[in-house]
Amino acid sequence: SKSKQRGGIAGFEREMDGRYIEQQKLKADLREAIGNQGLSVAYQPMFKADGTRIECAEALARWVHPEKGAIPPDVFIRIAEEMGIISEITRFILMKACKDCMSWPDHIAVSVNLSARDLRDADILAVVSEALEASRLEPARLHLEITESCLIDEPAAVRAILAELRARGITIAIDDFGTGFSSLSYLDTLPLDIVKIDRSFLRNIVEDGRRLKLLRGTVNLARELGLKIVTEGVETTEQLALLNKYRATDLVQGYVFSPAVPAQNIAILSQSLSRR
Ligand code: C2E
Ligand code: CA
Ligand code: CA
Ligand code: CA
Repeated sequence: SKSKQRGGIAGFEREMDGRYIEQQKLKADLREAIGNQGLSVAYQPMFKADGTRIECAEALARWVHPEKGAIPPDVFIRIAEEMGIISEITRFILMKACKDCMSWPDHIAVSVNLSARDLRDADILAVVSEALEASRLEPARLHLEITESCLIDEPAAVRAILAELRARGITIAIDDFGTGFSSLSYLDTLPLDIVKIDRSFLRNIVEDGRRLKLLRGTVNLARELGLKIVTEGVETTEQLALLNKYRATDLVQGYVFSPAVPAQNIAILSQSLSRR
């Protein structure tokens, strides 16, 4: 009977099959999207903490699936990593981001996310060079964001690659800072320029004095080490006011100022600020 099939092992297997097939289809669709300009890039501006100026914009991958609509990047980036094709996405984003950055005012940099996989391979050096040469973007206007997960295997090799990128004038940022475990020691030992404080760090800072102390302590330490601070996921004017009151950040990236927008809006936004 129907009710018997729905439960039990047969139903479970069918469901697994369904999920498996769907997953395989999504993988095929992603491969197709990468090959056929199905991916795009949106840019979220990072503002000076007083909101007067855009200093950088983060390139964020976007995939609008023909049937399913927008697939979140966390989802398709993970799939691409599993499939071993993340380097193709990284290459596409790097090329596009450098080119788009050239269309913005000179003082605005662009920041691109790297996956752990990208840093396992010294090819990344050639890919970055290619993107800079093709666009003629100054290396100082390219920022690369890495996470602690990039360092799990082969930390020495990763450090060497980061040092080489930095020697070429590229800016290195550690992303999602505060979400890992051994965070603080990385600040001192990695070749870094910027610390991006994860938005989970901001949770309750308005209500909880201890959270705020933790944030301020971390920021002060990073500053002592000569690093610049970007605070991510700032959503409310209360959070912004608090960060400014304690001078706890250099740049702010979050919905309080702007979500990710198309490339041309970065120039428009920047212009409207300078006219004010
Ligand atoms: P991320 O690198 O930490 O990027 C910041 C995420 O926070 C973005 O989500 C952004 O839209 C979101 N965000 C920004 N401001 C706020 C805010 O005020 N409140 C809240 N709640 N969220 C905010 P998005 O675009 O969905 O990207 C998610 C993640 O996917 C990124 O996290 C990054 O890990 C990954 N990702 C996106 N594009 C790429 C890419 O080109 N390459 C790689 N390797 N990863 C990417
Ligand atoms: Ca990032
Ligand atoms: Ca720079
Ligand atoms: Ca982040």
